[in-house]
Amino acid sequence: MSDMNQNMLAKYRSSFLKEVEANVEEGHMVKMCMQCGVCSGSCPMQNHWDHPPQELFMMIRANKREEVLTSSSMWMCTSCYNCIARCPRGLPITHIMHGLATYAKRLGKVPEGQPTAKFAQKMWDNLKQKGRTNELKLGLALYFMNGFGEGVKKALSMQDVGLGMVKTGRLNPMELLGGHGIKDVAGLQKMLAKAEAIENQHIAEYKG
Ligand code: SF4
Ligand code: SF4
Repeated sequence: MSDMNQNMLAKYRSSFLKEVEANVEEGHMVKMCMQCGVCSGSCPMQNHWDHPPQELFMMIRANKREEVLTSSSMWMCTSCYNCIARCPRGLPITHIMHGLATYAKRLGKVPEGQPTAKFAQKMWDNLKQKGRTNELKLGLALYFMNGFGEGVKKALSMQDVGLGMVKTGRLNPMELLGGHGIKDVAGLQKMLAKAEAIENQHIAEYKG
């Protein structure tokens, strides 16, 4: 493509598209979407999305920054990979959906109470403690995610399942006292702190 055409193209590319390309996993592929709608038509969750993938891609290109980042849509992706398998342009749609969700989370744009985001945060808080998931603590954290009363109700309704898991050795009640972890927990914490500092520095210019 000639320099003149490159310049014209740059002029018409939205700034949010550039932001997505710079910060979202596989974001550089968004511009390849030809709006055929195959991904949206293939998505088993399509009836639950405010904006299915094809629409999100169009909105990114149309500079609809707030609408995209505050949308609950990308949080609905179940990673079934139907869309990726069928996209005629080879877009890694699943990865872009998760990338958009992660980026929205970093910028503090996730809708209040979004359940997948809440689950992801609980999972991460649990995992980073010792480098391994403590399933017992994670399960309890999820039961009590929406308040004490609901947690007790949920725990009681699941007690047979829980006891069955204990009996068959799938759940160890002693994990509640601390649980097992990786060998170098301190090393992990150091690495995560460093990664967080780099990330915060990188996205500071996009916050606000
Ligand atoms: S299937 Fe691919 S090209 Fe078609 S709308 Fe979806 S992302 Fe775009
Ligand atoms: S991977 Fe996600 S976006 Fe793609 S079809 Fe499955 S649920 Fe829909």
